[in-house]
This record gives sequence, structure tokens and C-alpha cells, in this order.
Amino acid sequence: MSNFAGRLLTWFDTEGRKDLPWQQSADPYPIWVSEIMLQQTQVQTVIPFYERFMSSFPTVKALANADRDAVLHHWSGLGYYARARNLHCAAAVIRDEHASRIPTDIDQLIALPGIGRSTAGAILSLAFGQRHPILDGNVKRVLARHAAIAGWPGKTTVARQLWELAEWHTPQDRSAAYTQAIMDLGATVCTRSEPACERCPVQIDCKALLTDGIRDYPGRKPKKVKPLRQTTMLLASRDRRVFLERRPEAGIWGGLWSLPELDERSVEQWCRDTLNVRASATEAWQLLRHSFSHYDLDIRPIVVRVDAPLSKVADGDNTTWHRLDDQPPGGLAAPVRKLMDQLKKSEHVTHG
Ligand code: SF4
Repeated sequence: MSNFAGRLLTWFDTEGRKDLPWQQSADPYPIWVSEIMLQQTQVQTVIPFYERFMSSFPTVKALANADRDAVLHHWSGLGYYARARNLHCAAAVIRDEHASRIPTDIDQLIALPGIGRSTAGAILSLAFGQRHPILDGNVKRVLARHAAIAGWPGKTTVARQLWELAEWHTPQDRSAAYTQAIMDLGATVCTRSEPACERCPVQIDCKALLTDGIRDYPGRKPKKVKPLRQTTMLLASRDRRVFLERRPEAGIWGGLWSLPELDERSVEQWCRDTLNVRASATEAWQLLRHSFSHYDLDIRPIVVRVDAPLSKVADGDNTTWHRLDDQPPGGLAAPVRKLMDQLKKSEHVTHG
């Protein structure tokens, strides 16, 4: 066992986290769900989402058989919705091709949607005690600092060096404890902005610390100016209902319910074509900016009061007149939820 792993395991025995909800059994399903939720989200944020998700979908089969809207609804607010769609698809593959058992072979696991090499390694190590290296964001940071690996980990050559180190340090014995230990070290000690090096079990030979260069590792992604896009969203409303449509699978917020985006038509024309009603009044709200990893989106919200009985527009699989006081029909993107809350409040003022 490398000296690094030995020190980390000794530290883990007293300092590691052992009471997280998904650590309470060796069932691979909760571990898988938690690993996917933790991919871009911190532990404290994940816990309430995880608990609601597991109480609604307690087994792989329950998840596979669930309605996709219900799955996305449970993900609302966590962001990166492709994670939820992939989780749902992968559950169906596990039900249909693996008799509802999560595969214990790394290649079969990586073949499932949404599971990369690091996530597969974490599941197999934590649930089955198999020896596999992992390299999530926290681990990249620890290894890059400890060995002073320069460059952005998203670059192939840098990633290769980090994988080699991860492989080298992962011990034959106590693989599950080591996996949890290195994730914990990155999350609680070797943190992004204020690492607590005085509490770190591997400080004695940490090259970044010894050269006073912690801020240089891991190397940053080369900066690109994010493009700014714009869209107009319509809050077509009447009688405390708002018109929602389901977004196409491909593209942003795929499969989520959303306010319709206005194309090149006028609001009046859109109302006539889409809803078969007249717009009786419109009101423009302040721009709302939403940041994606690759671009910023400025949303121009327009409230449109419509003047015809709603029965003229049928609810379909992909459109609905949603009652503002009801649960949404499925997952909603964060800015859409925000605008609907705003509409609800303004309707209270109008009608209250
Ligand atoms: Fe991270 Fe500091 Fe430990 Fe180095 S000594 S691995 S920078 S916490």
C-alpha cells in the first residue's frame, strides 16, 4: 500500500464521513443514485433531494417503472437534468437486461447511460469492495495539489497523469474506505478556496504546499467569454392557470415542462395560432438572466392575459393549462419555476 493511502486511511478512521444517508447499507442502488446527484452538487444540497428521491423510487425497478415526468419532478432544482434522464434510462436497461441487478462488471457499468469511469469505479468500490481508482472533481484537486500536476484536468494529457496517480495510490485492501477517504479529504479538507492543510494527513509531502503554490493547482480551464443568448418566454394566463408546454428531448431542459418561447411571430399572432384565443393585455417583466456552463441566457418574460374560455384549447401530452395552485405536471427548469412563482404572487395581488 502506498504511504499516501496508508495515511489517508488512518485519517479516515477518525475523521471520515460515515453517517451520510447512502452509506447506511452496501446496496449499490442508493450509492449509484447518490454518486449521480453528487456529480455537480455538494453533499448538503444533495441530502434532501436524495431522501425524497429514494422514498419515491426505493429500488431500481421502481425507478425504471416510474413515469419520466415524476423522475424529472424530483430533480427540479438540482440542475443538470441530463443526469436524471440518464438515471431513468439506465434503470430501464438494468431492469430489462440485467434482471434489475446493478452490474458488477466495470465495462457493463460504463456502458450504461450517464456512468463514466470514475462513477463506475466509485459504485464498484463502495458497494462491492472492488479495487478501482476514481477521479471526481474532489480527487482531481487533491492529487493535482499533492503531486503538483500542472495544467487543466480537462486536458487529456493532464487527465492521463491524474488517472495514473489515482491508480497508483488506490490500495488492494480497504478499497471502499480509501475511495470514501479521498472523496472526503477533497470535500472537507483540501477544499477549493481555503484548504485546511494543517489538518491534512498528506501535508508532509504535498508539493503544492511545500512550494507555496496551492492556488496554482489544479490548473484552470482556459477562459472563454461566455456568449449571451436571448429569448422571450410567455406567461399566457387566465383564471389562475398558465399555459405550459413540454420541451423537446434534444436541447436545453430536454423533456422538462416550460413556458413557451416566442419565435419571430408577434404575441397576438402566437396567441391566435397556438391557443386559438385573443391576447387581452400584455405586460413585460424585467429580464431574468440564467447561466449555463456554456452560455448565459437572458429571458424576457411577457405576461399575456387571454380572453377566451380555456376549453377552446385542449390539454395534450405536451401542452397543458396548468393550475398555479397545483403541483407542476413534471420537472421545471429553475427560471421557469421562478417566473411561475412570480405570476402566482401577482395573481394573488390581482385577485386577492
Ligand atoms: Fe490539499 Fe493542503 Fe493537503 Fe496539500 S496539504 S493535499 S493542498 S489540504
